Amino acid sequence: METIAYELIRSKRRTMSVEVDLSGNVLVRAPRLMPKWRIDAFVKERSDWIERARARQARRQAALPTIREEDKPFYVKQAKAILPPKIDFYAQRMGVQPTGLTVTSAKTRFGSCSGKNRLSFSWRLMAYPEAAIDYVVVHELAHIRYKDHSRAFYGFIESVLPDYRERIRLLKGA
Ligand SMILES: [Zn+2]
Repeated sequence: METIAYELIRSKRRTMSVEVDLSGNVLVRAPRLMPKWRIDAFVKERSDWIERARARQARRQAALPTIREEDKPFYVKQAKAILPPKIDFYAQRMGVQPTGLTVTSAKTRFGSCSGKNRLSFSWRLMAYPEAAIDYVVVHELAHIRYKDHSRAFYGFIESVLPDYRERIRLLKGA
C-alpha cells in the first residue's frame, strides 16, 4: 500500500483537515497533540479524495498560461502600456481615484491596493486573457471603496463586471 507524502501543520485546532495545492502537494492541518498514527490513518482514509483533488488541480494547472521569467521585460512593458488606460476607464466608471501604479513581480498576488489607494499589479498578469486582467483591475479599484472582501465589495465589482465569477476562473484555471 502506497503511503501519501504530506506536509503537516500542527496548530491550536480541534479537527484535522486535508488540502491539495495547485502543484498537487498535500497539506494536512492537525491539532498539536494528535498522534502521528492517527494523522496517517486520516490521510489514508482520504486517499481517494486526494487522488481526485490532485487530478482536478493538474487540470487547472494545465489550463493556466506558462509564464517564463525571460519574458519579464516584454510583460513589464505591456503592463505599463495596457494598465494605465484600463485603470482610468474603470476608475471613472466606478467613481474612485487611485493614487498611483506599480508593476511588481509578485508570484501569488496578481494585484493589490495599498491603504493610500496605490495600486500594484504583477507583470505575470499580462499572460492571462484580457477578461481576467480587467477583473483584477476592477477588483483592486473596488478596494479603494471597500478595504475588505465583503458582500458589498463583490456587489460593487458585479455592478461593473456582471460576469466577474467567470473571469476569476480564468485566473485560477478551469
Ligand atoms: Zn482583494
